[in-house]
Amino acid sequence: MKKIKKQNAARLLEKWQKEFTVFVPSKASGVAQMAVWDGQDLAFLEHNRNTVIPPKANFLPSIQKMFGFRKEEGGYVLEPTDEDPPKQLLFGIHPCDARAIAIIDMVFKDAYEDRYYLSRRQNTVLVGMACTSPYDNCFCTSLGFGPADATDVDIMLTDIGDSFLIEEITDKGKEVLAGAKDVMAATPADEKKARAVKESAKARVSTKIDTDEIGKRLPLVFDDRKFWEEISAKCVSCGICTFLCPTCYCFDINDEMLRDGSGARYRNWDCCSFAVYTKMPTENPREDKWRRVRQKVYHKYAFYPELFGIIGCTGCGRCIRQCPVNWDITQTLNSLPAGTPTKKQETQKSS
Ligand code: SF4
Ligand code: SF4
Repeated sequence: MKKIKKQNAARLLEKWQKEFTVFVPSKASGVAQMAVWDGQDLAFLEHNRNTVIPPKANFLPSIQKMFGFRKEEGGYVLEPTDEDPPKQLLFGIHPCDARAIAIIDMVFKDAYEDRYYLSRRQNTVLVGMACTSPYDNCFCTSLGFGPADATDVDIMLTDIGDSFLIEEITDKGKEVLAGAKDVMAATPADEKKARAVKESAKARVSTKIDTDEIGKRLPLVFDDRKFWEEISAKCVSCGICTFLCPTCYCFDINDEMLRDGSGARYRNWDCCSFAVYTKMPTENPREDKWRRVRQKVYHKYAFYPELFGIIGCTGCGRCIRQCPVNWDITQTLNSLPAGTPTKKQETQKSS
């Protein structure tokens, strides 16, 4: 393993800036999110907490131009855009958000190849930072990983005091560290310190949910309208929980056209909490709020495991922290009854 003194971290970032657009956690815009490093501010090296806007925005922007078009004699001519975005390096991404990107990959890379997403994803290096101050409502350890899990990053850093311990996880990670002058070999004492930091962070994740057989326990309440009405009573359908969820990826598509016939197609984040989300000319299967809340929970905890073999939630806690009425997904999950579903319950799908 390797390490770098914190006082030299800026030089490593400057080296990376020559090849990549370097993003770091930043509050400069008033809300914590990944933002292009200004080459000066290093507050993020000490303030090691999750951003409010998740890094999914670096791959699936909240509004994205897909292509332009213009009307000509004989039809419309398309003007492709953003085919080859610049290489980006995300510094300080937390393990839960890196896991979220791996989860979204299953939709945009494996199930369907979304070139807008993939062009960014393939041009990105993820430099993770082990999370040392989880929030009270983080529950990542219930989802099979933890605040220092390095599975989904290219390089993992752990704060060990005056230095960061560096783990090179992927070939891409090794490549970007090659030739970095300030990076040196870690000592056994450094590695011991990092292990202690990681263990302590893990022990501080105090919120727990029982995920055992959750995909089987959810069908027990699928038809229980009273259960879902109570669960969803205080939700005001504002959509914050899904916009800020690092694994939510739904988008809507709109065309904007000027009177001269030129225009562009955009896609923007959409949200299953909105009553119009499933509105169709003849019906709306999720006009009732309780159905929409049920869908949100089911998508992450029943449908995602069924489709991809993994729960589509990372336990990042954003949907709890940012909800204006303190709706808490862990309370819903922890209030599921124990038991075995009937055949009919097992095969039910969302409506
Ligand atoms: S953030 Fe809270 S109030 Fe808003 S849609 Fe989500 S659960 Fe409902
Ligand atoms: S559902 Fe909530 S806790 Fe789970 S990944 Fe989304 S925002 Fe985080």
